[in-house]
Amino acid sequence: MPATEEARARLAAIPNLTVIGGAPLSRYTRFGIGGPADLYAETGDVEAFVAAVGAARASGLPTVVIGGGTNLIVSDAGFRGIVLRYRGERIWASGNCVFVEAGAGLGDLVDFTVERGLRGLETLAGIPGSAGAAVYGNAGAYGHSISERVAKVRFFDGREIREFDNAACRFEYRESVFKKRKEWIIFSFELLLEPADAAELRATAEGIVKIRNEKFPVTMKCAGSIFKNLMLKDLPADVAARLPAGVAREGKVPAAWFLEQAGAKGASRGDIRVADYHANLIYNAGAGTAADLAALIAELKSRVREQCGIELEEEVQYVG
Ligand SMILES: Cc1cc2nc3c(=O)[nH]c(=O)nc-3n(C[C@H](O)[C@H](O)[C@H](O)COP(=O)(O)OP(=O)(O)OC[C@H]3O[C@@H](n4cnc5c(N)ncnc54)[C@H](O)[C@@H]3O)c2cc1C
Repeated sequence: MPATEEARARLAAIPNLTVIGGAPLSRYTRFGIGGPADLYAETGDVEAFVAAVGAARASGLPTVVIGGGTNLIVSDAGFRGIVLRYRGERIWASGNCVFVEAGAGLGDLVDFTVERGLRGLETLAGIPGSAGAAVYGNAGAYGHSISERVAKVRFFDGREIREFDNAACRFEYRESVFKKRKEWIIFSFELLLEPADAAELRATAEGIVKIRNEKFPVTMKCAGSIFKNLMLKDLPADVAARLPAGVAREGKVPAAWFLEQAGAKGASRGDIRVADYHANLIYNAGAGTAADLAALIAELKSRVREQCGIELEEEVQYVG
């Protein structure tokens, strides 16, 4: 039996697992781009997910884990293998501790903490995607990242379920150990927050969402910022010395500043465009392709390399 058929049969035998053959990944990404996955499987059940990883391994097919698809560029050819998604989405609290399953929406998690008067996640309001991927990529905004509040992370390393404390997660700006070990799958995590006035937290969150919705309209097919911002301490001395006052904030230099110097605003390839108001925002204006997206990203990186002498790094993750 061909490997895909064999894998499909193995996956179909797992209780509580939904399996789809030839799933069009454009439906699972905010860019609305991406060809089919040979197989797509999802579940909110840890046991079923672990069994699915075992079945995938036995089939020898490549696997990839996705969340809400808000930070993904999936190739036009799709993914020759198995796409897995963990959908457990419970959120509960005990005192100042909040427990969350990785498939919960980050927005639902933020709302939950705000409504309970727990401070710590309110500046993350409006960041789309799942809670698990937020830990994977150490999502953050307005000077704060989720890592500041993560106490423990429970994950599957392919053999067993393990737990890491904050230090073991090796969080950095938009980085964690999970980004380096892509075969590790986050199932749940625990946050430690502080009591605060719910109305004050709500006002902060609502103010941020209002600003964000102007920058990233909810229907915009994009991934937020394409490139990571740069750490001032990592810039070549001559580049840092040429920065106008005020460009670096909290030790970071916006990638958008370098992109603007390179004339990125308004650049395009086919239906893939750089926003004319934000040089680090690329969107699909309709029928954009992953090929055009990748080509535009490569062009912008090369322009910034030549004109500014620095190498931009993508925040988005590639599949296929
Ligand atoms: C409009 C817009 C604005 C954004 N603004 C911000 C912002 O301000 N700050 C910010 O940090 N990000 C921002 N983002 C990026 C994005 O929302 C985050 O990266 C988000 O955490 C991705 O979540 P997701 O569930 O969609 O993950 P996906 O895009 O599906 O996956 C991203 C990565 O996470 C991995 N992953 C997913 N789930 C798991 C899991 N359970 N275990 C292990 N790995 C997993 C995947 O393998 C993949 O490599 C923005 C995106 C958009 C579209």
